Amino acid sequence: MSGALSQDPAELQRRIDSSKAHPARVYDVFLGGKDHYPADRNAAAAALAANPRGYLDVRHNRDFLRRGVTALVAQDGIRQFLDIGTGLPTAENVHQIAQRVAPESRVVYVDNDPVVLAHARALLTSGPEGRTDYIDADLRDPARILEQAATTLDFDRPVALCLVAILHFVADEEAYPLVSGLLDELPAGSRLVLSHLTEDLNPENIRAVQRTYTERGFTFVLRSRADVERFFTESGLEITEPGVVPAHRWRPDHGAPVPEQPEESFLAGLEEIEK
Ligand code: SAH
Repeated sequence: MSGALSQDPAELQRRIDSSKAHPARVYDVFLGGKDHYPADRNAAAAALAANPRGYLDVRHNRDFLRRGVTALVAQDGIRQFLDIGTGLPTAENVHQIAQRVAPESRVVYVDNDPVVLAHARALLTSGPEGRTDYIDADLRDPARILEQAATTLDFDRPVALCLVAILHFVADEEAYPLVSGLLDELPAGSRLVLSHLTEDLNPENIRAVQRTYTERGFTFVLRSRADVERFFTESGLEITEPGVVPAHRWRPDHGAPVPEQPEESFLAGLEEIEK
């Protein structure tokens, strides 16, 4: 049993502020989940009015995560994942995706939203050969994340750090040092799996979405492709094929042709750490 789950239910209830929209729950609305409040549905409606294809973009993002994790396990032999900014449990979480290919895979989930914590039991459903854990922590507290993750993950073996659709909630001055600091702690052969909202594609709509979020008090940073690439290059990772590309174009299943969609909102990439 994870330490995070032994929290006092009354204390957990106190931490949940249902009067304000929260990123995890707004994202859950887009994914067709059930764990959100009216404030989250209002925020999702405002974002969709600004960018009517928001639903599709979120699904493309989530599908990139599935393809990335599958490729890492099936082709690259990765067996450990640190997924920060997990979101609410959904049909296919990282451990289900990874353990389908390699049942011994281990996954540590991290999120700072108390509603995600309240539902985290659904993430602790590892098969018997693998392991999962949940850490109730903020990305801005990497020391705590690394210390707690070490009870489940072996940091002498490669770890895939998943920062999927989280970094746009973190301002530049924090985001770049946080990512390079975490990557410094991972051994050679580890991976960075990253997706990010961009203003390079569909700028008018996505800036309108940004306004709907900043009005609600979220930090919401759109980054250009060059800015997204910096998360990799600042830590000395070389950008290899296909590089940082619109999420739906990142290694499509079975090499299927996919159309250019200039309205896409997410850029995605996955690179190996060499030391
Ligand atoms: N990675 C998932 C969910 C993305 S939604 C996916 O791509 O499908 C973004 C998630 O990041 C939310 O669950 C939100 O609660 C979490 N998050 C945002 N800022 C965070 C922070 N500073 N620390 C930890 N989690 C954070």
